[in-house]
This record gives sequence, structure tokens and C-alpha cells, in this order.
Amino acid sequence: MIFAWLTEHRRKSILAEPFPQLWSEILGRNTPFYTYLDPEEQSRLRDLIQIFIAEKNWEGCGGLTLTDEIKVAISAQACLLVMNLDREIYPNVESILVYPAGFIAKQKSMNPDGTMEEAPHGLLGEAWLSGPIIISWADANDGALNQTDGHNVVYHEFAHKLDMRDGSADGVPRLADDAQYDTWAQVMSVEYTDLVKKAEHSKKSRLDHYGAVNSAEFFAVATECFFEKSVCMRETHPDLYKVLSGFYHQDPAERAVN
Ligand SMILES: [Zn+2]
Repeated sequence: MIFAWLTEHRRKSILAEPFPQLWSEILGRNTPFYTYLDPEEQSRLRDLIQIFIAEKNWEGCGGLTLTDEIKVAISAQACLLVMNLDREIYPNVESILVYPAGFIAKQKSMNPDGTMEEAPHGLLGEAWLSGPIIISWADANDGALNQTDGHNVVYHEFAHKLDMRDGSADGVPRLADDAQYDTWAQVMSVEYTDLVKKAEHSKKSRLDHYGAVNSAEFFAVATECFFEKSVCMRETHPDLYKVLSGFYHQDPAERAVN
């Protein structure tokens, strides 16, 4: 209770500061989706960006010097996802580490004989269950500028963090009630199975085949598609669109960005 009061008190003082003119220019230049939001949504997003930038620890890695452009562009994309969710704003994200471009990280993977192996992989982003978000700035910037190609590393990694809020990365974020969990399970299992089949047979899909890796990746990939190819998803995967729309409390196809 006291913690919640302190948070609200601190946020009030953050929002007492005007939204910097430079940040507004960055939104117009680097995150074109912003211009498709209605004025009320834009105002809410600006509030979230101010809070998000102030509350999270930001670190430039690999020689990158963090700038307002980097922080605002990444924050705008991350906050778009939670614009209509609770006001906690990614409580499981303390730090955001930003590399200039793709980076190398060690990842565990299973060999065909069932043994586990840890080997270096090139990544554009990474979300740790009990740790930071790691993002390539070049790809975060590209993702925002190309708002209809279906690929967005910031949406992807922050969707993982929404999934992880209940303590596990299983493709099921915290939902409102049993009915929503039931619908989620039904729709996601049909859609995921369909994508796995398409990926196995190299058949085209509106959803990136990477979503067939597991149910956590499916949710992250579906989120990218939901925000970047919303009209197409509403037509070709109406149940999936409806479930994600119910979770995010957003109807991006109505914004006519894509
Ligand atoms: Zn992923």
C-alpha cells in the first residue's frame, strides 16, 4: 500500500514536468505509428514514455552512447503494448541494455541426441526471465520505421516480458478471468499447431515461422503481427486477432496504419 502510494507520488512529480519538445519531434520522426493514434491515446502514451524512461535503468553496451532518440523510440514501442493495460508498466523490467546493432550471446539449445549445449548466437534482442531486456538499437529503430513489415524486435521482447509476469515463459500472460484463460488456450493451441504444421512443410504463413519454436515465441511473434499487420491478421486469423485484441485492449486494425 505504501509502495503503491510512493509510486503514484513519484509518478505525479515525473508527469509534472512538460513532455520535452525534442521527444515530440523524435516520436514524429522515429515512430510513425504514433501519428495514427488518436489525441487521447497520444497523450496517454506520452505519459507512459515519461514514466518508463525515468523508472527504468538504461545502459548503453558495446560502445553505444545512449541518447534521447534511442530511449524515446524504444520506450514508445514498449509502451504502445501496455497503453491500455494496468499502470504497473512492466514491473518485471528493471533494466534495458542497448547495443548498437545485433549482438552475440550464449544460448542453450538441445542437440538431436537430447543433450544440451551452450553456444554463441547472434541476436537482435533478448528478454531474461529474472533479468534485463537487451535490444539492438539498429533493429529497434528499423522496427519502428518499418511499421507494416510484421517484424519488430521491441514488441517481440516486451511481449516476452508480459508473458513472464506470472513467473513463466509459456505464451500465456496474466489474463482477467477463467473464461479468458479458456478462450486463450483454445485459440492459441489451434493457431500454434497450424503454424507448426506450416513451418514443418515450409508453407507460407502470415505469422513468422519462428513462432513455431514454442508457445512463448508464438505469443511474441503473434504480437508483432497483431500490431504490424493488424488488418491482414483480422482477416486471415480472426480468432487470434480477437484474443489478442481482448488482451491488449486495442484494435489496431481500426487505426488503418496497415
Ligand atoms: Zn523470442
